[in-house]
Amino acid sequence: MGGTVAACTTALTSNVVLITHCHTDHAMAIFSHARAREIAYNKPTTYLVPSGAIDALTRMKDIVKELDRGNDKPGEAIDAIVFVPCDVNDEINVTNLVKKNKSKGSNESDEGVFVQCFPVKHIDNDSLGRPLSLGYVVSTRSRTPGLLPQYKSLSKTEIKALRTNNVPLTNPALHSHALVAYSGDTCATGLIR
Ligand SMILES: [Zn+2]
Repeated sequence: MGGTVAACTTALTSNVVLITHCHTDHAMAIFSHARAREIAYNKPTTYLVPSGAIDALTRMKDIVKELDRGNDKPGEAIDAIVFVPCDVNDEINVTNLVKKNKSKGSNESDEGVFVQCFPVKHIDNDSLGRPLSLGYVVSTRSRTPGLLPQYKSLSKTEIKALRTNNVPLTNPALHSHALVAYSGDTCATGLIR
């Protein structure tokens, strides 16, 4: 998400926003975005950010909250922001994350929308070795719905009996389908290695 009004507006419906790095044109719209989402939908937003940026973003959150006094709900939109620190090779089940942040049960699933974090060459890591820039691959994972072919002709009673005996009735294999990969402002050397 850039610092422009257009990018902020485009991402207005998004529960989750991926931040590749915190240069001004990529991250400075975070707080406007969170505030606009509160007004439009009364919903919080989760921002996935490189872990090296988490300390500064948390400080910024406190400062913006202090400055945002005088609104109808002072600081609420800013308070509701969730920053998720990400590292190279992290794999995040975004579907579970959104459910957890909405307090809609803790039933974790291995299906849903996933984000994989990969290294890019744009900003050097911080002094603790934490990344300040990352790329992301967004993919879905799901199982083929419906009964396995060998059980399709069975009666409801027979299916129930199998289920009672914990016989796997559906295909356990997960299928992954990449939707998009985004590397931010990385240069070619970040990808060729
Ligand atoms: Zn940049």
